[in-house]
Amino acid sequence: APAAIAPVHPAIAGDHIDWARIRADFPLLQREVHGKPLVYLDSANTGQKPAAVIDAVDDFYRRHNANVSRAVHALGSEATEAYEASRRKLAKFLNVRHDELVLCSGTTFAINLVAYSWALPRLKAGDVIVVTRMEHHANIVPWQLVAQRTGCTIKVAEIRDNGELDLDALYAQLTPEVKLLAVTHVSNVLGTVNPVREICREARKRGITTVVDGSQAAPHRPLDIAAIGCDFYALTGHKMAGPTGTGVLWARKETLDAMPPFLGGGEMIKEVRFDGTVFNDAPHKFEAGTPNIAGFIGLGAAVDYLSSIGMANIEAREQALLAHATEELSKIDGLRIFGRAREKAAVISFQIEGAHSHDLATLLDLEGVAVRSGQHCAHPLLQFLGVAATCRASFAFYNTHDEVDALVAAIHKTRRLLG
Ligand code: PLP
Repeated sequence: APAAIAPVHPAIAGDHIDWARIRADFPLLQREVHGKPLVYLDSANTGQKPAAVIDAVDDFYRRHNANVSRAVHALGSEATEAYEASRRKLAKFLNVRHDELVLCSGTTFAINLVAYSWALPRLKAGDVIVVTRMEHHANIVPWQLVAQRTGCTIKVAEIRDNGELDLDALYAQLTPEVKLLAVTHVSNVLGTVNPVREICREARKRGITTVVDGSQAAPHRPLDIAAIGCDFYALTGHKMAGPTGTGVLWARKETLDAMPPFLGGGEMIKEVRFDGTVFNDAPHKFEAGTPNIAGFIGLGAAVDYLSSIGMANIEAREQALLAHATEELSKIDGLRIFGRAREKAAVISFQIEGAHSHDLATLLDLEGVAVRSGQHCAHPLLQFLGVAATCRASFAFYNTHDEVDALVAAIHKTRRLLG
């Protein structure tokens, strides 16, 4: 059965969206930290969850808990039906076929699956993998492991000073030795939105397989994986209002069918015999063992929730918050913003002259403002930027313009404390 269309959120009436009412869906955002109202600006790290998602997980454990695809009893079929319904909802949300979605623990697992099952059997000495300078470690280290095992080499696609990929240099790098290109859709540090459709078209012309890391794109903009034209697309559920330990890998059915299983065990087989085991069809072939059933039911509820608001509305809201925050932060003396791409998601990495990023984040926390500090799982990018650490404020649709002002006020206050 096709996934049902989510109803429109009651906070939306015509062109008007009551964002305060939407924010009230998030129980955690009501709490205080160190006696101050929480200002949560770390959604690029993990997103907060609406009550609809928390309730879906709670309801599963209270009323339907059973394993999937195994038991014929009523609870077993309810669990299986709800789990598979989430796969169909995700497929509709991403505009792909449901039997092309491998459900897994997150982007890290998804990319490792491609590395072990697609790249390892195919690549050899002399082949090249291109990764960009702005990748998260999850889209670097698996390729390094493949390079160690196969003797292939890794080349880096560099970025310009504004934080955009140098596309001319990238296309010039795509020589016949290149077999795979790994690129993030949106940078978790710079916020840069890469033109993945164009990049994948250029790669495809040259017969190069593409892996797109969608972790920071899926939560923030309408997504149409079919239109991107990549070979693999990975994303993680916990950044898009879903539970931790959920994610998906998308690839065309024929690509999945041509890949050997990655992990062995229950669920991924049709028949096990000591003289030859028959594997299940994709995507189940890649889903060994009991999955995170409650987590995926929660992720299905998250997809319904995001759809009820509309990803275009979410994107517009976050762009307004980004514009406001960029303008206000730019007025602060000695504050440097890393990443000024023309197309950006609502992520601002910054540093303040004379203040260590960890000290700044610790003092901001005392004001109730949660930002991330450090290297953001992107050491090669920080090496390029020439800094040991940055602070990163990342926004979601549930943030408010008052919270932007609270961040700015807290920076002024901590600055006085840091002297
Ligand atoms: N890729 C990017 C761009 C990310 O921001 C993250 C999140 O930290 C990941 C990959 C890894 O996601 P996960 O830890 O959920 O596998």
